Amino acid sequence: MDERRSPDILRELGKKYFFNHYDDEELRGRGIELLLEAFRYNDPEAMFIVAKLVLDSVLLVRNGDPEDYALNLMVKSARAGHLQARAYLNSYCQGRYEKEIEEINKLADEATPLTDFDGKTIKIDRKGVFSPIDAVLEFKDGRNILTLSTNVAFIYLEEGGLSDRERFEAAVLDGILQWSGEYEVFGGQKLTVEVKITQDSRIFDNLVVMPVTSIWHEAFESAEKMIIQKSKREQLNDLRVHKRSFATNGIKWSVNSRKFIFIQSKSGNFDDYEEFMHVAKHEFGHSLGLGDLYQSNVDSLNGVKKGTYRELDGYALSEDNYNLVMCDHHGPVSNNDIEMVVLAFKENREQLFQQRKSKGKISSALGKGN
Ligand SMILES: [Zn+2]
Repeated sequence: MDERRSPDILRELGKKYFFNHYDDEELRGRGIELLLEAFRYNDPEAMFIVAKLVLDSVLLVRNGDPEDYALNLMVKSARAGHLQARAYLNSYCQGRYEKEIEEINKLADEATPLTDFDGKTIKIDRKGVFSPIDAVLEFKDGRNILTLSTNVAFIYLEEGGLSDRERFEAAVLDGILQWSGEYEVFGGQKLTVEVKITQDSRIFDNLVVMPVTSIWHEAFESAEKMIIQKSKREQLNDLRVHKRSFATNGIKWSVNSRKFIFIQSKSGNFDDYEEFMHVAKHEFGHSLGLGDLYQSNVDSLNGVKKGTYRELDGYALSEDNYNLVMCDHHGPVSNNDIEMVVLAFKENREQLFQQRKSKGKISSALGKGN
C-alpha cells in the first residue's frame, strides 16, 4: 500500500473535504469518494461515517434495508474498536428499546382482566389437596393466564400389560399438554392456557390414568353383572365391548371430584403414540369438565346438528360431525372449548354441548360466539 493512500490519510482527507465544504458539491463528492476508499480498507472510523451517512440518506444503499445495512456497519466499526460507533449503538439501541417498552406498556394499559359475556371480571382460584386439577386465572403484565396444574398418576394392574410404558405415558402427557396455547374467549379477549404436569407420588390429588389391559376387561365384565340400573349396565357393556376409552369424574363432575381416565386399545397394544396422544387429549377434556359433542343418538345424547351453534359451525365436517376435540379426538381444542373450561372452573359445574335424555344445562358459552 502506498503510504499516501493509507486509510488514515484517505479518511482524514475525505472528512476535510466533505465536512468543511458545505457549499462546494464537487469537493463534497471528492470527500465521499475518499471516505468510501478508506471504508473499503475496513477503516473503523470510515465505517462509522459511512453508516451515519446512510442513516442520514446522504448515501444510498443498492439493495436491502438501509437501516439494517447501517447498523451492521456500526456494529462492525464498534467491534473494530471505534468508540463513537459504540456510543452511537448504545444510544440507538436504548432509544429502540424505549420505544418497544413504550409499546408494551401501552398494550398492557389497554389490556384488562378477563371478563365474562356480561363484562364481569372472572375469578378462578381453584387449588388444594382435593382438586385433582388446579385452575388459577391470573392477570399479569397485561396478559390473562389460566394455569391448569395436575399431578398425573399412571396405574397398572398387571406387570406385562404394556410393551412400552414410557412411550404410552409420553403420549398421554403430550395429549394433556395439547390444551396449552393462545386462545380468544368471551368476545375476543386473549387468554393464554398453560397446562402444568407433575408426576409426584401422592395418595390424593391425582389425575389417575389407567390403560385397560386384559385384567381390566375381566373386572369390567364382572362389574357389569352387578350393576342394577339397566342404562348404566348397558353403558359399561358398550364401553367394554367396543373398547372405547372414557373418563370418570365421580358421580358428577366438580372441581373436587375424583378424576380417572381409562384408556382402551382396540388392537390390544398401546404403542400407537399419535392415537393415544389424541385419545388422552379428548379424555382430559372430560376431566376439565366438558361433555361430549357427539352426533345424534350416541349414549342417549341428543346430538348437535350443524347450524345449532355458530361457534361450532366452522368446524362442521358434515351435518352432525365436527372436527373438534370433544367430537372427534383428532380434532383441535377451540376457543369455545377453552371458554367452557373457564366456565366449568368458575361455576364449578360441568359444561355440556347437549342434553342427555333431556337433562342437564347446556353451557352458556354456546350460542354467543367466542
Ligand atoms: Zn368422550
